[in-house]
Amino acid sequence: MLVAYATFKRVQLSLIIMVEGPTAKAYAIRIRNELSGEIIREVFTKSKRVYISLDNLVGKRILSSDSIGKNILLFIDNAAIRLHLMMYGSIHIYQLNEPLLKPKSRVRLLIRGAEKKLVAYNAPIVEVDKRDRILKKLRRDLGPDPLSDEWSREEAIRNIMKFPEEKIGVIILDQSVIAGIGNILRNEILFRAKVNPEKKVIDLSRREVERIVSISEELSREFLRFKLEHKRIKPLLFVYNRYKGKCRICGAPIKFYMQKPINRKTFICENCQKM
Ligand SMILES: [Zn+2]
Repeated sequence: MLVAYATFKRVQLSLIIMVEGPTAKAYAIRIRNELSGEIIREVFTKSKRVYISLDNLVGKRILSSDSIGKNILLFIDNAAIRLHLMMYGSIHIYQLNEPLLKPKSRVRLLIRGAEKKLVAYNAPIVEVDKRDRILKKLRRDLGPDPLSDEWSREEAIRNIMKFPEEKIGVIILDQSVIAGIGNILRNEILFRAKVNPEKKVIDLSRREVERIVSISEELSREFLRFKLEHKRIKPLLFVYNRYKGKCRICGAPIKFYMQKPINRKTFICENCQKM
């Protein structure tokens, strides 16, 4: 019992600090590996975004799973289920006879297969619709995803340049510019690129924008690799959550503030990231 609780707590903590593109991709890969081919016996969801009959999914096979940005997708026949976990959602895969780890009241989606079951807790978004419709909407709303085969550095650079008057720290969180960047990646990307988040896009050189985009790609991949190896990402962090820490590059103090108007936790080294 004690062991189960400790495990549960550790999982929770790692999720609260990080549901960004790499986490979504790691979930999708795990679902793909464990549930592809499973024939669905029962689907339950607590969601208003159900646009096709759930009965149609019963008897069908789970074909695959993937992520786009922070969205996790399950493909079932010509339908898809989209999950967005935000801050507190999580997905668990259980053997059929295993009891649920969390109270039933928190279940937003349950898929029971022939051998395993998938349970999503607290996920704020569970959408069930035709596959084409879900993909079309995501492609319309989201910028390129550094972890997708369709990733394009050029497109990401163009998207940033569309907002000359915006602060770069604000714009790279915008999912229509680059999909999957969350607050941890945002802080770490700008630190590595040596760019101050308060700088306006118009004041950045082409080379700086290119650097931000290529670091977005490299760091997303690095985070994903750590996630898949079940390693903590903390050793990768130069600034995020390092309150009162010193810069690992120059030794200057790390400054913490809330960037306006997005009001997100922001950590910088004012020496490495000059205005
Ligand atoms: Zn520094």
